[in-house]
Amino acid sequence: MRLRAGVVSDCGRVRSANEDSFLLRPGLYAVCDGMGGARAGEVASQMACLGLLSVDPASADAEALREAVIKANTAIIQRSTSESELLGMGTTLTAALLTDDTLLIAHVGDSRAYLMREGELAQVTDDHSWVGEMMRRGELTHEQAARHPHRSVITKALGTDMVLDPDMLELTVAPGDRVLICSDGLTGMVSDEIIAQVLGKGDDAQTAAQELVDVALLNGGEDNVTVVVVDIQASDQAEEDGDGSWSDSRILIGPSDRRSTAAAPSGIERLSQNARERLRRRGGVLRAGAVAADDAEGETEDQEKGGSVEAGKDESAPATVPPPEGEGSKKKADHKPVDKRRRRRRWLIAAVIVLLVLVLAIGSFAWYNSTVYYLQVENGKVALYQGLPWDFAGIEFSSVYRLSSVDYLALTPYERGQVDSRELLSKKEGERFLDGLSTGL
Ligand code: MG
Repeated sequence: MRLRAGVVSDCGRVRSANEDSFLLRPGLYAVCDGMGGARAGEVASQMACLGLLSVDPASADAEALREAVIKANTAIIQRSTSESELLGMGTTLTAALLTDDTLLIAHVGDSRAYLMREGELAQVTDDHSWVGEMMRRGELTHEQAARHPHRSVITKALGTDMVLDPDMLELTVAPGDRVLICSDGLTGMVSDEIIAQVLGKGDDAQTAAQELVDVALLNGGEDNVTVVVVDIQASDQAEEDGDGSWSDSRILIGPSDRRSTAAAPSGIERLSQNARERLRRRGGVLRAGAVAADDAEGETEDQEKGGSVEAGKDESAPATVPPPEGEGSKKKADHKPVDKRRRRRRWLIAAVIVLLVLVLAIGSFAWYNSTVYYLQVENGKVALYQGLPWDFAGIEFSSVYRLSSVDYLALTPYERGQVDSRELLSKKEGERFLDGLSTGL
């Protein structure tokens, strides 16, 4: 059998960056939906895709696929705990390994794999999401889940728990089958019925992937959306079509970094330097283009020219929704608004703290100012002032507390010296001085 694949990844119409990643390698295909804010989600999803490169697509080795996912999980956790800006990052992963007539799927999170056979579309993965679990328990209908405020809470992801048990599925496939792998940016925006209609039109894999993304964008594009379509064809069909030969040297990983409308080759360039270096070390060849078709030179050329891979947008993770019982959960959607809310809250807290410190400082000063006194001459008479003998910008910090009837000029040199010193006194000391003057003591 021969495989033809198409991919489109778009940041959508709401997010500011794309944290989805995909991997296309002949026989091995994956979609990962990162979460974590800033660039953390993108790092996590890319790490997950790169982690799959250890799997040999030529052999249907479920254990190798499972091990690769578990190792990627460990690597993501280690990196997120060692780099503060990546703390809490995570990603979904749905990977399909196609070898001969065997389709192996590794799955964690709420990205999905579907199989289209003879016009019938079947979801083959279970969503590891709060609403998914509620639906399986019969506590939510499909319609309720689609609108549920907790629909973006996922219950399993790479990056959250050192112990990870990915779902592993094995199916037998046949020529004519069509595999779809996608992030929830598609399934949150487009119903299964519409997906089936688009996939059933018979367009080539790349056209179908593009059309699915277009529908998601038309319906709002609220999330990053990544679609991989893989067509399983009979070998002789490929030969008849002159589709070229299988090549295991073509690997496509993307998109990466911030939003861009650049074509596919630029999408490849957006791979981080580290990612490219790791890929090179693994012997992979980065191929520009949105299609990692196992055949079809024409299709690949089209991608290189026009490219439908778009680098995307941002999302992050609020933790405002309680996780389902017994499992850590992570919310993926609405990251940007939550970041804004968090920033606003931080500013508010900082403003309140500054205000409290100011009030405390002013209060302390006012209290101290009310407890000190000094002597000064007021209209030729000796007076006791309350407060500090200072002024600032025309504001005096003291006022006459008691005015005596004693002329300054009548004081002895010693007494004048005491008045002139403006030494700070207690109220008792000041009054005793004035009393001594008036009584002649
Ligand atoms: Mg998503």
